[in-house]
Formats: sequence, C-alpha cells, structure tokens
Amino acid sequence: MAGLAEPVYVCPQCCGNLDVVLDVEQVRRLHAPGSIGAGTDASLWRYAALLPVKVPPATTATLRTVGGTPLFPVSRLAQHCGLRDVWIKDDSRLPTASFKDRASAVVVARALDLGYTRLITASTGNAGVALAGMAAAAGLEAVILVPESAPPAKIAQLLIFGARLILVKGNYDAAFKLSLQAARELGMYCRSTGYNPFTLEGKKTAAFEIAEQLAASLGGEVREMWTAPDCVFVSVGDGNIIGGVHKGFKELHALGWISRVPRMIGVQAVGSAAIYNAFAARTDAIAPVDAHTVADSIAADFPADGLHGLQAATQSAGAYLTVTDDEILAAIPELARLTGVFAEPSCAAAYAGLLKAARSGLVAAHERVVLLITGSGLKDVATAMRTVGAAPVIAPTVAELRQALV
Ligand SMILES: *Cc1c(COP(=O)(O)O)cnc(C)c1O
Repeated sequence: MAGLAEPVYVCPQCCGNLDVVLDVEQVRRLHAPGSIGAGTDASLWRYAALLPVKVPPATTATLRTVGGTPLFPVSRLAQHCGLRDVWIKDDSRLPTASFKDRASAVVVARALDLGYTRLITASTGNAGVALAGMAAAAGLEAVILVPESAPPAKIAQLLIFGARLILVKGNYDAAFKLSLQAARELGMYCRSTGYNPFTLEGKKTAAFEIAEQLAASLGGEVREMWTAPDCVFVSVGDGNIIGGVHKGFKELHALGWISRVPRMIGVQAVGSAAIYNAFAARTDAIAPVDAHTVADSIAADFPADGLHGLQAATQSAGAYLTVTDDEILAAIPELARLTGVFAEPSCAAAYAGLLKAARSGLVAAHERVVLLITGSGLKDVATAMRTVGAAPVIAPTVAELRQALV
C-alpha cells in the first residue's frame, strides 16, 4: 500500500489504477452528517474530512469556491419522460463551466501538498480548462496537451487562463502517453484522468452534495442520515466521472450515512461505446473503439478509467446504454426548454439516455432520479446552433414584430 507522502499514480507492479482508501472508522468516530451539515463552507471543501488533501488557503481564490452547485427538481422534464421525480445536479455552473473543476481543485490541492509548482495534463478540453483555471487561481503553472481538434471555446479558455497550451498531432491517446512521460522526465505533477487517483477524490464530492442536498430538500431529520436517489444518470467517456461519483456514494454507504448506493446509469454515444460494449458482453475486458461522436467530451477510443466506469454500473445494479448523435443533438434544445439548463452535447447525452431508459422501463415511474449536468452549452456553440433555426430579422415596428411572432 502506498502512503500519501509520495506522488504515486498507478500500481508499481501492474500499472493498474489506484484508489485512495478512506479511513471509514476514523471518519465515523470524528464526524457525522449533522456536524458536516453545520459547516458554513458551501464549497466542496465542506467535506474536507473525507478528502485526502489539505484545504487550500483562502489565497487560492476560485479554487476555494468549487462545488456547492444546486440540485433542483425538474417537474416538466420528469413529466415529459413519464417519471415522477427527476432532479438536476447542475455542475455547468462550476467556475470553468464543467464538472472537471471538482477533480482539478483536488489535484491542485494535492500538488500544493507535495510542493509542485508545475502541473501537466492531457485533455480533450474540459479537464485541461479546469486545470488551467484552478492552477491560475492557485498561482501555479499548467501545461496542457490537447488534440488539435478541440472546440474553439475550450481553446480560448485555456489560452485566457494562461496555461502553456500545446496542440498535439494525433488523437487524445497520443497526448495522454506524452503527459505521463513528460511528468516523469520534466518534474511536473500529472493530472491526467485515469492515471492520477486524486481526480476521483474530487469527483466523489458530487455524490456527497447530492446526498446532503436531497436530504435537506426532502426535509425531515438530516442530522443522522443523508438521502441517496434511486438512480443517477451520467454521460461517460473515460469512466472517471461515473467512477468518482460511485466512489462517493460507496463511502457514504460504508459510513452508514446513506441507506443504499444508487443505481449508476452510464450513457455513452453509439460511436464511442467501449464501456457499454463490455457491459453488454458481461466482461471486464474493455476493447478499444475508433471513437466518433458529436459529443467531444465523451469521445474516447480507450477509456482511461474504464474499469472504474464499468464497475460503477455492475456493482450498483446499474446499467449502460447508448444514444445516437441525432438523439444527442435533439436533446440539447429539449433539455434547455424543459429546464432552463443549456448543456454541452456530452451531457445532453445523459438526458437522451434518461428519456430512453424511461421509455424502455429501465427506470420505473416512481424512482427518484438525478441527472448530472456536466458541462455548459456555451462550451460548444457551433454544435448547439445546428439544432436551431435562424432568428428572423425585422424593422423595429410592432407590425413586423406581430407578424414575426405568428
Ligand atoms: C469529461 C466529461 C464527461 C465524461 O467524463 P468521463 O470521466 O470522461 O467519463 C462528460 N461530460 C462532460 C461535459 C465532460 O467534460
């Protein structure tokens, strides 16, 4: 077992992914839902007792505010799906507008603990943006390796945050391999997903928030217990988000703070379905695919955290399903019009999956469902614009306006 003092990433023997193991007995002795609920910090740092890093100082600015996103019921969407009880956890509101901020905040805190001043990551976009933003907040340097094809808004965010953005010829897998080697040889701390176990530690905080917020929303006694939903819908590329959220629920269950782990439902694009394929074939052996989808954030040839992603579903009596690019595109305006949430294609996929699951009976009408919104629609405006028509242009008269509104 590795200690926390060294920058260990993967198993020295087999190179498999590592898990940070929570000392459940110690946490249970010292803390309870009520004591955490009494905390005044609304960010993910309110769960510091369950995190393996020191809380970064207030001087790390935005980094200290990550988390605390709203969980709210979406009754019109629920009705549209034929369900009773659907909630959105809206992580598009995080500082750099994606779920990846949770991971990057904890990884940067880890870098501060270890004394690194430079970090590196490979990314299809959002993970790099989140690291660039969190590194900027903490005054550290970030080197981001991105495939040449990343959407312009993400490239803009990377450049604006002052990251050393390097566009790598080839696909994400090439950038990933380079990030591991560069971290070793150039003395940088590596964030790359599926390599650094601390990304899961950040991502698990979404489960803590969902359970605490759901308990608070439903009223009753929240000093002893929080509340798990029946199922959680997550869009999946590498498998790190669904794996991290599942880890969070498992820890709460081990602590006795929730009564059961929710079913984790992973949604992949038909053209990028490596984990779905393994789930459907009932095997742990995840075979690479040649990924093509309109949802860039969930395109993965070989999922970097595939086993965690797969086990999230298999261990929770959950499931995987796929949606087509057409279904993803249709889901963007539909989700927005039913809820007021403008999501990027990758998380509109989770909604498309929920719709499918409700229609096929994979979720039952009475189940309490949480839909995780992982990234803002402003990240990929070009794709969103493919789903809507052009706006009319009129002279500034009521007559023309009346006609345009017919
Ligand atoms: C990264 C990302 C995902 C998928 O997460 P994985 O850990 O790769 O499975 C989904 N949605 C958005 C917006 C993302 O940035």
